[in-house]
Amino acid sequence: MSAADLTQLEFDQQHLWHPYTNVAKPGPTFVVKESEGVHITLDDGTRLIDAMSSWWCMMHGHKNPAITSAIHAQLDRLPHVMFGGLTHDPAIDLGRKLLDTTPDSLTRIFYCDSGSVSVEVAMKMAVQYQHAIGQPGRKAFATIRSGYHGDTWKAMSVCDPDTGMHHLFQGALSVQHFVSRPPIRIGEDWIDDPAQNGLAELRGALEANAGEIAGFILEPVVQGTGGMYFYHPEYLNHARAICDELGILLIFDEIATGFGRTGALFATDLCAIEPDIICLGKGLTGGHISFACTITNDRVATGVGNGNPGIFMHGPTYMANPLACAAAKASLDLLTAQDWRSKVSAIDEQMQAELAPARDLPNVADVRVLGAIGVIEMTHTVSADEAHARAHQMGVFLRPFGKNIYTMPPFITSPDQLSQITAGMLRLAREL
Ligand SMILES: *Cc1c(COP(=O)(O)O)cnc(C)c1O
Repeated sequence: MSAADLTQLEFDQQHLWHPYTNVAKPGPTFVVKESEGVHITLDDGTRLIDAMSSWWCMMHGHKNPAITSAIHAQLDRLPHVMFGGLTHDPAIDLGRKLLDTTPDSLTRIFYCDSGSVSVEVAMKMAVQYQHAIGQPGRKAFATIRSGYHGDTWKAMSVCDPDTGMHHLFQGALSVQHFVSRPPIRIGEDWIDDPAQNGLAELRGALEANAGEIAGFILEPVVQGTGGMYFYHPEYLNHARAICDELGILLIFDEIATGFGRTGALFATDLCAIEPDIICLGKGLTGGHISFACTITNDRVATGVGNGNPGIFMHGPTYMANPLACAAAKASLDLLTAQDWRSKVSAIDEQMQAELAPARDLPNVADVRVLGAIGVIEMTHTVSADEAHARAHQMGVFLRPFGKNIYTMPPFITSPDQLSQITAGMLRLAREL
């Protein structure tokens, strides 16, 4: 049969890769025709609540009118122009807005295409900075276990070595320094003893390898894909001090946590310190176009600039794409113009109440909620395909990862819709 004779779904299954799938055994896949608000509409007319915010991006809901009209207006004026030697209002206006909302010490913005690339940029900045200040031996990175930083090579090297499947790429991946994830959770009492709070291990690893470590990279407070784990922000305050002592840059990957998801505008705001470099992505355009950025402080930016060659060696073709900048500016305006804190805390409270019964189920290891992130951790790995099919029957789009049945609902989700999501999660926890 020639490709022309295939149905849309047959063509998809025979010719298109999907994320983390086996092309020889494609899982259940639905054709989406439209999306609006919290809903995605399939080709058979079924409407599903997008409990994933389409991989955690779509916090204002799908096809948000403020964002789509900003893109339309920009499309008619200047869809794209190279950023080398040229600039434009969308990039500048977004920059102003980002500086207003992100931690104060972060002043130099590098726009790029995706979260993984923003991590590459951050790591490259750290290495170039160390080189520039006379520490050329510092090329490696330290991180905590069960992290996730993206799928490109350098980003992958700091993902959890087990769930990131480092064994598959042995010899091809840069070797990095891993310490245990912070053992004290957010909400638990902080314990000052370094032997118990993870800081003795961190200090030991950083001191022993300081001569070769350029930066310490981690997701602040919430580890996403690597385990949906929420740890105590106090860990980061101490990590900052240890990094400063040893000349190691502190890099926060806020790609998943940024823009209100945890209940704070940025997870950094839960700490008393600020990182040297921050990575933003996912929710940056409210899920409407791929976009990301890396923001650093004056010290790192001027450090790199004073080095030899002084120029920062990165420049994506679509850097600062005006459509993406316009979308991001509209999304941030929308977020800051509303009382998003009350919305996220209402989602938080409702999920706490509605997911609590899962604690009594036989195969449930833990239930946790932080901001607009709700997780039922099972004792075993859950089949995403099975879950997908069953949630679909309940009108919800859920896609568990590993042992975690989780939701990151759009902030516009109504209480009734949220109940539908939590009921779907409880059902998966009972049945799978
Ligand atoms: C999703 C994610 C990335 C990768 O972003 P992409 O846009 O998929 O490249 C990196 N870090 C964290 C914490 C993420 O959640």
